[in-house]
Amino acid sequence: MMIIMKHGSTQVEIEHVIEHIRELGLTSHLSVGEDHTVIGAVGDTHAVPTAEFEVLDGVESVIRISQPYKLASRQFHPKNSIFPLDGFNVGGDEITIIAGPCSVESREQLLETALAVRAAGAHALRGGVFKPRTSPYTFQGLGEEGLELVAEARQATGMPVVVEITSITQLELMIKYVDVIQVGARNMQNFALLSALGKTQTPILLKRGMSATIEELLMASEYILSGGNQRVMLCERGIRTFETATRNTTDINAIPVLKSLTHLPVILDPSHSTGHADYVTAVARAAIAAGADGLIIEVHPDPAHALSDGRQSLKPEKFVELVKQVGLIAEVMGRKLAPIASTQKA
Ligand code: PEP
Ligand code: MN
Repeated sequence: MMIIMKHGSTQVEIEHVIEHIRELGLTSHLSVGEDHTVIGAVGDTHAVPTAEFEVLDGVESVIRISQPYKLASRQFHPKNSIFPLDGFNVGGDEITIIAGPCSVESREQLLETALAVRAAGAHALRGGVFKPRTSPYTFQGLGEEGLELVAEARQATGMPVVVEITSITQLELMIKYVDVIQVGARNMQNFALLSALGKTQTPILLKRGMSATIEELLMASEYILSGGNQRVMLCERGIRTFETATRNTTDINAIPVLKSLTHLPVILDPSHSTGHADYVTAVARAAIAAGADGLIIEVHPDPAHALSDGRQSLKPEKFVELVKQVGLIAEVMGRKLAPIASTQKA
């Protein structure tokens, strides 16, 4: 339920509405806009008549949010959510490019990749250290040692870092080292993890599960938002279909659908959605043309010897080309790439 306050409503009136929400056993979410203050009353509102709030001082109108995801919905927050990330904004007119290896493998591999993607125009560095691998016999990631390398690469390049969490037990470590916590496809419905992330203030990149619907993705984001963490980016990373020519099928439809249903930034991962380096750049272009706010791309200096996802990893020179092409498509769309990090970390 959304309580829209009158223009010029007082702090006392707003607090009174919030107090009434609490009395009804619901949670309040305040959104102060340029024109109106909107207060979300979230919880089981079925039995609560809108008149409960309509009669309160300062209330202009009360609207029921019809979608099951409340805080993620555009009904609740009509404008795009834009949030800063170390010098640039995510979710606004500017396109964000996150790039780096699938896995952090060694100091040399990570630093070489980080410097290369930065020089090519990436805004943030990715690199997994806890890898959710299908086989327990394959490389599982460097763990905390990998996070120290990530911190070094962050320092050397000035880029914020994006790292995947695979268990709630890693949360403390993640908060210490990481600028954006990635929730992978396999954990999209790890509800205990999502709730714990909702209690942090670290930005989250939430990937769509490989067989999850768009609504399920939005409901997953709601677990994070309802905990109080408003900085969630959604990531389409391909879904399982009958097609076997590619690792997954890029659901390009998901981009405009998500952009219309939610105010959250939408990122595409063409590396996992295609599974093949030859197709990544084409699908990256399509993503920006379809309205995505950013991309996450796997890059490796020597893909043939990568310890994970080498087949879909771009060599740095191919990534340079991708950034150029994506920049051109962005211009056609009336957007531009975000400026690159200019300073080293202190
Ligand atoms: C990854 O980003 O390396 C990864 C494991 O992605 P996903 O969760 O989309 O499979
Ligand atoms: Mn990967």
